[in-house]
Formats: sequence, C-alpha cells, structure tokens
Amino acid sequence: MHPPTNRRIVLAARPKGEPKDDDFRLEEAEVPAPADGEALLRTLYLSLDPYMRGRMNEGPSYAPPVEVGHVMEGGTVSEVLLSKADTLAVGDIVLAYSGWQEYAVADAKGLRRLDPSAAPVSTALGVLGMPGLTAYTGLLNIGQPKAGETLVVAAAAGAVGSVVGQIGKIRGCRVVGVAGGPAKCEFVVNELGFDACIDHRHPAFKESLKASCPAGVDIYFENVGGAVLESVLPLLNMFARVPVCGLIAHYNQTMPTRGVDRVPMLMFAILTRRLTFRGFIVTDFSAQAADFARDMGQWLREGRVRYREDVVDGLENAVGAFQGLLRGENFGKLLVRIAAPR
Ligand code: NDP
Repeated sequence: MHPPTNRRIVLAARPKGEPKDDDFRLEEAEVPAPADGEALLRTLYLSLDPYMRGRMNEGPSYAPPVEVGHVMEGGTVSEVLLSKADTLAVGDIVLAYSGWQEYAVADAKGLRRLDPSAAPVSTALGVLGMPGLTAYTGLLNIGQPKAGETLVVAAAAGAVGSVVGQIGKIRGCRVVGVAGGPAKCEFVVNELGFDACIDHRHPAFKESLKASCPAGVDIYFENVGGAVLESVLPLLNMFARVPVCGLIAHYNQTMPTRGVDRVPMLMFAILTRRLTFRGFIVTDFSAQAADFARDMGQWLREGRVRYREDVVDGLENAVGAFQGLLRGENFGKLLVRIAAPR
C-alpha cells in the first residue's frame, strides 16, 4: 500500500530568540517511492530534543543547520511499509532519522531494527537511545563517579538528567538533582531515588542547593548553564569534574548577556581548584554503544533505572511541544506519537 500524501513540518524561517509558530510550516507532499536498497517508512514516534534549536540557526556548529524550506530533522521510531532491501521486511519497526514528517524513504543500511518484545519501542529514542547514551558516556567517562562523592545533576527530571542521576546512585554517589518546580523535584526524589532535588525556580535555590551539598560538589553534570551553573560553581570541590553536556538556558539567546565579566572568576576557580570542564557530543563515544546497551538493558530489567515519557499526539502539535521543551514544560523524554503500528 502506498499512502497518498505525506504531511511534514519544514523550517519556514530561522527563529530569532524563541522559535515562533510562523518559523515553521506544515506542508503536504507526495510520498516518495523507495529505490533498491531502500524502505518506505511510516513514523510512529518522533523524538523532540533540545539540539534541534541549534539546527535552526545559520552558521557553523558541530552539525550543519537545517536549510530553510527543508524538513526539520529528528530521530524517529518508524514502521516499514514497503521494502526494497533484503534486510528489512514489511512491518519491521526501526530506529530511523526521518525528521518531522509522517513518511520517509531511507537507505536500509542506516536503519536499526528494534525488537518490540525486548522493550517498548519508544525507549529507543530515550532511555535506551541517544539521551541514555549521552548520560552514560558523559557521566562515566568525564564525571568518573566514585562511591561517596557528591554529584549534582541539572535538568534532573529530563531525558538525560534522569538517567545521569540514577547511574550516579548505582555508582554509590550522593546525588542532588536540580529541576523546575515541586512536581518534578518530588518525582526525582521519590520515583528516581535521588537523595535530594532543588527547584531552580524557587527564590531560595542557591541556599537550598548549598545546604543539600554539605561536603561540596565533586561532579556537576551540566545541562543548562545560566543561573544553575552560577550557583553550583562556588560549591565545586578541588579536582571536581564538569561534563558539559548542554546549555539549554542559552539556546534562545541572540545577544551576549550584559553585566559583570564572569570569565576571570570562572578561570580562577578552574585554576585554583584544578577543575576539569569538558564538553562532549554523544557521538564522541559511539564506540561505547554496545556497553551502554548491555548495562542499561540490565538496569531496566532489574528496575534500577526508571524512565518517564511525555507523549504528545499528532504531528501538528510538534511545534508547540518543541517550544514547551525550551521553557521546561515537558516532564520526561518528549516524544510526538504520529501513528500507531498496524
Ligand atoms: P530534557 O528532557 O531535560 O528537557 C529540557 C529541560 O531543560 C526542560 O524540561 C527544563 O527542565 C530544562 N530547562 C529549560 N530551560 C531551562 C533554563 N532556562 N534553566 C534551567 N533549566 C532549563 O532534555 P534532554 O534531556 O534531552 O537534554 C538535556 C540537555 O542535554 C540539553 O541541554 C541538551 O542540549 C543536552 N544534550 C546534549 C547532548 C550531547 O551530545 N552533548 C545529547 C543530548 C542532550 P526544568 O523544568 O527542570 O527546568
């Protein structure tokens, strides 16, 4: 069966600051036909991730931008509708990179078949996928957690942060999360098992964070930057490690922040306290994907790692959901459910 039309969301303009509705356009187009070695895919789940904000900007970064007029990029869990590849059969569920659209054609070599009996297929975009691998590799390689150390995790209720903190607990750390609002903090402590979680929107945030880290901070898993980083910085112990994973508080920023030049203060802290700040992109550690799949699979089966998904229905709601992600409105790994498997 070849579907009649494809609905897709294209980048209509490069956003200035917060992405607005008219920076995107919902279009209808013909569904492409697969050539030899390819498959026609139907999107079941689309992953919405903070890195997509960077892809909307012009200019150099670690990956090229999405061109204006082109379909927004994104990881998907998709179903094979038609296959012209020996390795794929109709009905297979695969991990793909179809972007913000209902149908796509892809080279079978770039697709990974998922086993729906092993785990819910949506987890291939979250705890068992890119965000989980980011948490695992960033914490273990750069954070180097040791039992008894204090680990602070930013955006602790989210896709990456929730996994970082739970691995920290498995490694015997005292784990303090930072999240926006009482509901997320309650979840982080009671469901995920962190030792504490501090609300970064509360006026007493800085003082509460300090009180929760009586022995200082040995590892700060940086996901946000801004005011959270400023509050953690004075608490960092000698030889503390800071995996710099994301800076979401700044993704919509168009101008440098005005005010005191904080660079010298940061550099003195790095020098005198021998701090390690190391940025990373998850692909730096692709070679550890098999170790990750083994360990995370086991932790999930044993109930030592839990996860939460925030699922929005319908492609037409992707833009609103993405705007909400940058404002902290998601509660867990943000996914758009585009269709149910047949
Ligand atoms: P999340 O599921 O954590 O969602 C983003 C969260 O960021 C929001 O829910 C919100 O949580 C928090 N946030 C948004 N704005 C602010 C702000 N101004 N100040 C403080 N917190 C804010 O997303 P992910 O887990 O997918 O991503 C987390 C981070 O990891 C991002 O920075 C992302 O870019 C980065 N990342 C980096 C990768 C890499 O390879 N280096 C790979 C994957 C992700 P709250 O309500 O709690 O404030």
